[in-house]
Amino acid sequence: MNQDRLRAIPSVTTLSDLLQAKGITASVEQATLIARSIQESIRANLIRDSAIPINVEIDRQIAAIESLFERSRFTQVVNATGILVHTNLGRAPVSEETARAMQEAALGAVALEIEPESGRRGGRMREISRLFRLLTGAQAALVVNNNAAAILLTLSALAAGKRVAISRAEAVEIGGGFRIPDVLEQSGATLVEVGTTNRTYASDYAKAVSAGNALVLKVHSSNFAISGFVADPTLHELRDVANESGVLLIEDLGSGTLIDTARSGMDHEPTIQESVEAGVDVVTFSGDKLLGGPQAGIILGKKELVDRIAAAPLARAVRADKTTLAGIATTLRHYLRGDAETSVPIIRMMSWGRQELHRRAEHIATQLEILGCTSGIVETTNYVGGGSLPGQSLPGIALELQHGTVRADDLAKRLRLAQPTAVYGRIERDRLLIEMRTVLPKDDDVLVRAIAGVMSP
Ligand SMILES: *Cc1c(COP(=O)(O)O)cnc(C)c1O
Repeated sequence: MNQDRLRAIPSVTTLSDLLQAKGITASVEQATLIARSIQESIRANLIRDSAIPINVEIDRQIAAIESLFERSRFTQVVNATGILVHTNLGRAPVSEETARAMQEAALGAVALEIEPESGRRGGRMREISRLFRLLTGAQAALVVNNNAAAILLTLSALAAGKRVAISRAEAVEIGGGFRIPDVLEQSGATLVEVGTTNRTYASDYAKAVSAGNALVLKVHSSNFAISGFVADPTLHELRDVANESGVLLIEDLGSGTLIDTARSGMDHEPTIQESVEAGVDVVTFSGDKLLGGPQAGIILGKKELVDRIAAAPLARAVRADKTTLAGIATTLRHYLRGDAETSVPIIRMMSWGRQELHRRAEHIATQLEILGCTSGIVETTNYVGGGSLPGQSLPGIALELQHGTVRADDLAKRLRLAQPTAVYGRIERDRLLIEMRTVLPKDDDVLVRAIAGVMSP
């Protein structure tokens, strides 16, 4: 490493003066903190890459600070990946009405834990419990931060010190290092694997829990599918086993849908209503997967059990805030009124046929043509994603962008950095595809502008 290069890095004072001269910072204290951070980044990058000219690196770091002041990473982008529940793009977009309800809750006070009639303290889950009861028949509901928290909390409250029987096929990793065996250990339970990877019978569970002081955990296989010579007991069979042994039956449903996905031509994803109907004691699922609401973990079940879970110390640590509760309640109202298919974006996206997608793609292609950009329309395959319906696909339609001189991955990068609205497409065999299914029609014009902006000569 060339020490002269490191010695040439400007001092914190010099950088701080530079920032203030550019009008970037408000106070001297702040300018010093920023200057220090810039100095560290410059040093690290010069060490990492001996070819970068120092002035280029200084300008780059200052530009990065400027953009941090101006723009947030959490502004809307267009999901044109064809994956409906895309965890890296923030999962389900919520309905307009839900977004408004969340905004309203965020902007002021709400009667979160006060009963309007009496003025006395009341439960924050009352309305949501009522809505879930009307939609699924469940006695009570509890909303927490996410489904991972829902599982951890449920098991800590109900399974600590107990043996938890789980099929060998279901002791899985859900993603991001979230592994069911680890969660069980964390919650103080002992994992008892039953059956084999491909075949597990009700009798396997019966043998494992006959000793009492146990419970049965069913985990929906959400991000993989085992096919071929497989066997898996139904919820009703598991209910019988649990009844005979006098133990609880808990289910992690993963995605959690209220509608029949078979209506969109896919396999039937087990619904929340089916779990409640089968007599599962407690079922947990995500709010931002197929339900189409904000990030949340939802716990439904018998009132006495949900009350016990809500009273556990960990419950306070993972509880949902007023905006999430407003968002979940408003999302549920769409299902109650029967307008989920038109209002809840994720449900709407699933309902489109290839013809509709093709019509929109044609319209966009025509507009692009007028702006001098060439595109083609191709048939593709879309996925639900986010741990729902593994291996299940939907027919897709994509715009294939063609540029004489810019390569597909460079074009994709330009679109990811496009301002004011970025677009995330998909690369397949060196082609940049813009999938129509995951683009909301209200964003079609934004899409045209973004594409024209990066493709026009
Ligand atoms: C997605 C998923 C989870 C985790 O849910 P989060 O809401 O992301 O915390 C847990 N279990 C299953 C089966 C899932 O599919």
